Amino acid sequence: MTVGVKVITKPKRTLAEQVYVPEIAKGLGQTMKRFFKNTLGPDEEKEIATVRYPEEKREYPARFRGIHRLTQRSDGSPRCVACLCCSTACPAQCIHIEPAEYEPEDPRYGYERFPARFVIDELRCIYCGYCVEACPCDAIRMDTGMHMPPSTERHHFMYEKETLLELPGRDGTYLTANPRHEPGDATHPGVDRLKGH
Ligand code: SF4
Ligand code: SF4
Repeated sequence: MTVGVKVITKPKRTLAEQVYVPEIAKGLGQTMKRFFKNTLGPDEEKEIATVRYPEEKREYPARFRGIHRLTQRSDGSPRCVACLCCSTACPAQCIHIEPAEYEPEDPRYGYERFPARFVIDELRCIYCGYCVEACPCDAIRMDTGMHMPPSTERHHFMYEKETLLELPGRDGTYLTANPRHEPGDATHPGVDRLKGH
């Protein structure tokens, strides 16, 4: 097999290019043209990539992971059952949960727990989404569509349960479309106090 050789000749510079000054003037002319077009020209002709955040925001992709929220049940209580799956799966170890038992008169007593405290350190979080994947109850989501608001105070990045429950999803709701079957409901699978489970 023969290998062909392609000779590339180096382009020669003209005298104007060689002295640089006309080329610099041409470059500056182009810069000034863009400057006046983008500052004084009509909006539809502007070629500017700058977004005036936060007044203007880019549209995020549908799968963008925003800051977390905790979803609610229809009575406003957290769906979270404090199983610790999310904090176990979290590679950054930035979820802290303190589980607690419901009161004895609550039908959930003895079957489920709830998070007395649920804290996420949003500054330590790497936004991997493992916590969302690990949750068996669809209780934690990253569908708020929000960035972490900037702050110079460290404690502003510690999101407590109350804050996480108050953040809506992109659809504006605090719930999820996934059904929940509460202990005592006819639809509750398998676990029945009357059957001695
Ligand atoms: S997104 Fe990842 S790093 Fe952040 S809390 Fe969830 S599991 Fe942890
Ligand atoms: S958010 Fe989900 S995974 Fe985390 S403790 Fe609550 S129920 Fe378990």
